[in-house]
Amino acid sequence: MRTPLIAGNWKMNTTVSEATKLVLDMQGELDGVEGVEKVLCPPFVSLSAVEAIVRGSSVKLGAQNMHFEEKGAYTGEISPSMLRQMCQFVILGHSERRMYFGETDEIVNRKVKAALAGGLRPILCIGERLEDNEAGRTEEVLRRQVTGDFQGIDRADVSHGSERCDDAGRDLVIAYEPVWAIGTGKAASGKEAVATVRFVRNVLAELWGVDTTRGVRILYGGSVTTANIAEFISDPEIDGALVGGASLKADDFVGIVRQTAEIKGSAR
Ligand code: PEP
Repeated sequence: MRTPLIAGNWKMNTTVSEATKLVLDMQGELDGVEGVEKVLCPPFVSLSAVEAIVRGSSVKLGAQNMHFEEKGAYTGEISPSMLRQMCQFVILGHSERRMYFGETDEIVNRKVKAALAGGLRPILCIGERLEDNEAGRTEEVLRRQVTGDFQGIDRADVSHGSERCDDAGRDLVIAYEPVWAIGTGKAASGKEAVATVRFVRNVLAELWGVDTTRGVRILYGGSVTTANIAEFISDPEIDGALVGGASLKADDFVGIVRQTAEIKGSAR
């Protein structure tokens, strides 16, 4: 059984004091919810302040990006070992990084390798643009992203470096985020999301086999709110959500986490 996961991507929002207030507003409630892994991804400059507040609780931290090199002359960049002291997760390959910062599958692949080698769990984002969706190319795009982003990564790499089956696939989270649904208020339907996530899991199974793939958590992302989260997580195929806009409102994010605990908990 995969543990459901809800991650909040705060993107380039909140100053350090705003981030501190936001986490203080949700921390107690989040910590009280069991059966769901809760991950906050504030901007780099707020990681330390947020970490000091969530330390010792069940709330985990993720970064929104990372460089693939460990150190050196890469002005402005942040390495896996810098993050490892504070974060358990790192979002990689977000469509905004691919779109605005020129991240290719080759770059994302280097980052995924570096995160896994550095003890961070990647939340790898994949998703098709509107024109690909409308032209019926969704599966083609996702297959290309999955095979490119995981090039040279084998099943042991996503399973705590071991082949033990209770660990299989656990180090990896994938977020299926159709680009046309991100920040637009126009989410995919639950049915569409489930079918696409099933396709992604089948592609993973071709790479690593069914057992490993069974442990990989696949989230949906794109305009998730308290009003539509149930549609996605009611199906066992979808293991949670990557939430942007709604993660900036404490009540909304807590509501999404609570609904996930209720729905997934009652399915056990
Ligand atoms: C995201 O940033 O990954 C995201 C899904 O954003 P939103 O929930 O605002 O669509």
